[in-house]
Amino acid sequence: MDEKKLGVILGDVALNLLIERGVTIQDIADLVFYLQKDYHENLSMDDCVLNVNRVLAKREVQNAILTGIQLDKMAEENRLPEPLQQIIRMDEGLYGIDEVVALSIVNVYGSIGFTNFGYIDKKKPGILKKLNEKGAALCHTFLDDIVGAIAAAASSRLAHRAANTE
Ligand code: MG
Repeated sequence: MDEKKLGVILGDVALNLLIERGVTIQDIADLVFYLQKDYHENLSMDDCVLNVNRVLAKREVQNAILTGIQLDKMAEENRLPEPLQQIIRMDEGLYGIDEVVALSIVNVYGSIGFTNFGYIDKKKPGILKKLNEKGAALCHTFLDDIVGAIAAAASSRLAHRAANTE
């Protein structure tokens, strides 16, 4: 596959992976609304959806989704070599690479994103709570951080844009 074709399909593949894993654009937009509602008087859900879509259009973000979700799926299927299999399957607290992958998403829109990412990871509203209530058959070690990071990056983008127009 040539580079141009890869660029075209990457967005679709990333979005389909999120949906396959039970996360919709609306779920992520709800997180953006949760993070930003107190800071913008007339915040609409359409604005939140738009900013999520813009974040999902970034190559860095698509790459993080592809990589993280693939590792989650392989851990679910017991296909990773040990000890990585156990570390990811058990979501070992000291692993930390799930957060590093997520930070590559947050990085795209600058430092406001870090605060949002930390906050939402602690509060776990909406879809994040659901992903953390995973049953024994599911592995969301990377996915929860990736979803929180997309919401944080979209919030950051929204905040920067609002600051420029106000
Ligand atoms: Mg995690």
